[in-house]
Amino acid sequence: MRKIFLGPPGSGKGTAASRIAPKFNVPHISTGDLFRHNITEETQIGLEAKDYMKRGELVPDEIVIGMLKERIQEDDCQEGFILDGFPRTIPQAEQLAKLTDMDLVINMDVSDEIVIKRLSSRVTCENCGEIFNLVGLIPKNEGECDKCQGKLIRRPDDEPEVIQNRLNMYKEQTAPLINFYKNKNLVKDVTCTNINQTAEETVQSVLNAIENFTSEIKETLETPNNN
Ligand code: AMP
Repeated sequence: MRKIFLGPPGSGKGTAASRIAPKFNVPHISTGDLFRHNITEETQIGLEAKDYMKRGELVPDEIVIGMLKERIQEDDCQEGFILDGFPRTIPQAEQLAKLTDMDLVINMDVSDEIVIKRLSSRVTCENCGEIFNLVGLIPKNEGECDKCQGKLIRRPDDEPEVIQNRLNMYKEQTAPLINFYKNKNLVKDVTCTNINQTAEETVQSVLNAIENFTSEIKETLETPNNN
């Protein structure tokens, strides 16, 4: 069970991936979270990634690929994993294909308007990383994480001038992956057109897409080949 969640920043892929991974008993691997952890721990990777992230640019492929490769070799990845925020470039996808096969790509299809509204009001728990925003994911108590009561802070790369840069990076470098994986018949689109859609509704749409994809594959395998 190896799935990729693809989509622009603010598309809900992180929230959906973190809630769906436990249902399949596999780890949720977010390369953004791994970088933020490395920055907090002041590791070499953190030092190398920090300035790119601050500017809303992509961290160079060799750094990301090395970090991801190590992570997916850990014991908890034996039965699979959900990747969130990786791959983000065609070379990353090509390297991933050399390491392992993927079984499904969920493409979170969300308009720029929704993404900008969500990101400009997004806050993250500084303790557990849970994500909130003022459209669909409102914390119960202002400034406080529902899960662990940690403090909610704005990520440095969610500042308005950086948001636009991240969206441009997505369009230039990551969106071409949709066709890369469509050519391999691995993509299911999950479209969100409602700014007020809740996280629970998003998770349900993704679970439906996974179920549909699985039954389509089963049907293809069961259909006798008449040639
Ligand atoms: P995210 O939390 O997924 O929005 O990622 C935050 C930032 O981490 C991105 O804006 C990039 O600077 C960096 N990053 C995360 N994943 C990747 C990746 N696969 N390739 C390059 N940079 C990445």
